[in-house]
Amino acid sequence: MAILKSIGRLFRRRVSLEPAMSVLGRPRLTVHDTGQMRCTACSLCVGACPSHCIQITAAPRPIDSNTEPALSGDRMPETFELDLSRCVLCGLCVEACPVDALHLDGDLPAYATGRDHLRLDANVLKIL
Ligand code: SF4
Ligand code: SF4
Repeated sequence: MAILKSIGRLFRRRVSLEPAMSVLGRPRLTVHDTGQMRCTACSLCVGACPSHCIQITAAPRPIDSNTEPALSGDRMPETFELDLSRCVLCGLCVEACPVDALHLDGDLPAYATGRDHLRLDANVLKIL
């Protein structure tokens, strides 16, 4: 009997990454029509995140005559990393963002082979 229970536990160990409640997806970084990130590296989302899963380093934004200065700000993330293994999909980062740079509609992976695969950088976070 004990052996049967152990075998049963082995089959139950696969942990689903599907959220318990119905959400649209993971945080996604939005971009201007020009392709530039809206994010101004203000770090308000970092402070709002209860799971401490966002890390940002800031850099001056290159001057781009195609982008509205008032919309883009003078800084942008040099690096933007989100640890999806800690994210609870609460959307507080989306609410905290003053420039609509985050939406909760990014692609959620169905599974991951390790935590490293869930540390998403800006290039991945821009994908729907
Ligand atoms: S959705 Fe919630 S847990 Fe995930 S990064 Fe945003 S604030 Fe953090
Ligand atoms: S995503 Fe929004 S809140 Fe977060 S650093 Fe960028 S501009 Fe600020």
